[in-house]
Amino acid sequence: MNKVVYLDSAATTPVDPAVFEEMRPYFTERFANPMTFTHSSVGELAHTAVEEARERVASLIGSKPDQVVFTSGGTESDNWVLKGAVERASRERLHKPGHLITAEFEHHAILHSALALQRQGYEVTFIKVGRSGIVDPDDVRHAMRPNTVLVSIMHANNEIGTIQPIAEIARVAHDGGALMHTDAVQTAAHIAVDVNALGVDFLSLSGHKFNGPKGVGILFVRDHESLYPFIDGGGQEWGLRGSTHNVAGIVGLGKAAQLGKQRLPGELTRLTALRNRLYDKLASRIDRIAPNGDMRQRVPQNLNIRIEGIDNEPLLLAMNEAGIIAAGGSACNAQETLASHVLTSIGCDLKEAKSSIRLSFGYMTTDNDIDYAAEVIPGLVRFLRSMA
Ligand code: PLP
Repeated sequence: MNKVVYLDSAATTPVDPAVFEEMRPYFTERFANPMTFTHSSVGELAHTAVEEARERVASLIGSKPDQVVFTSGGTESDNWVLKGAVERASRERLHKPGHLITAEFEHHAILHSALALQRQGYEVTFIKVGRSGIVDPDDVRHAMRPNTVLVSIMHANNEIGTIQPIAEIARVAHDGGALMHTDAVQTAAHIAVDVNALGVDFLSLSGHKFNGPKGVGILFVRDHESLYPFIDGGGQEWGLRGSTHNVAGIVGLGKAAQLGKQRLPGELTRLTALRNRLYDKLASRIDRIAPNGDMRQRVPQNLNIRIEGIDNEPLLLAMNEAGIIAAGGSACNAQETLASHVLTSIGCDLKEAKSSIRLSFGYMTTDNDIDYAAEVIPGLVRFLRSMA
């Protein structure tokens, strides 16, 4: 294969070799169903592995192990909390459909779940977010109503990386009698995520964003009585989430959480420096470029820039030809030619949104990758501008 500089870690990351090695036996000799642990020695092995993974994830987010419920990933966790918690609080507190607050720039797992609730008669407020890409807690305060049952604001945005004041927003939610959820898919194992410091009742995370496997994640649930099950089935996960455990995936998630926690301080410093170096180099070599969203309140692994006078599609294709993989928006919408809903929601016009690219980094990103991108991208931009 030709040289590939992968700068799309916000879309997904490779499974770390140590994670893969830890998962391997659970596909083969340790294949048993963990729910059979009461009468089976092989079931016991699988059960122990699942519980060890639960402890490792709990340690990453500062929760108790029994507050970690395994799911199939960020999308399921987001769907579950919106539907399961809003329905339960509405039925038990209000005896009728209540009100949910979220933000216009959320991931579609949240936005489309909110729209589904709206179709069923629930009320939803979508908070507007300005150019900084940061939700103002006062806007949440003003949106609160007596029937608000849940506030769901993401910890960091997946396209522009901006970090939200979750602890402050959680206080607003709780003062108004609502529960608080945050989608931490882009922050877990990248910046400090502590459910008690954040003051959240629910938190979603996904293994494949920090060198774990795809198709496995968690919902942190502070109180098991605060939401209805989303997947009804057997008694797995305290009856909150049916289906035979994805043991290998869960083991991989646990190992990735353990490694992520160990590496976090070093990676935070390293990736922040790499990101800033790339931006400084690009800005010195390309005129009329600007970051989308606040540059300081941002996860270290994200750089989102708009480059006046170019269209992101041909630029991304040309970068791909040169071996640099990046993105125009989120991976889930990569087939859409529409401008990113995140960029338009923070006030970019269509032209600005279509001239923006997201470069995102991970544990595998090296100094050489950054230098190569900083060398190659300016030439491609000059060429595309000359063709325009
Ligand atoms: N939430 C955010 C912020 C994301 O970035 C993603 C993935 O792109 C998801 C949710 C969905 O996670 P998963 O791919 O595990 O379903």
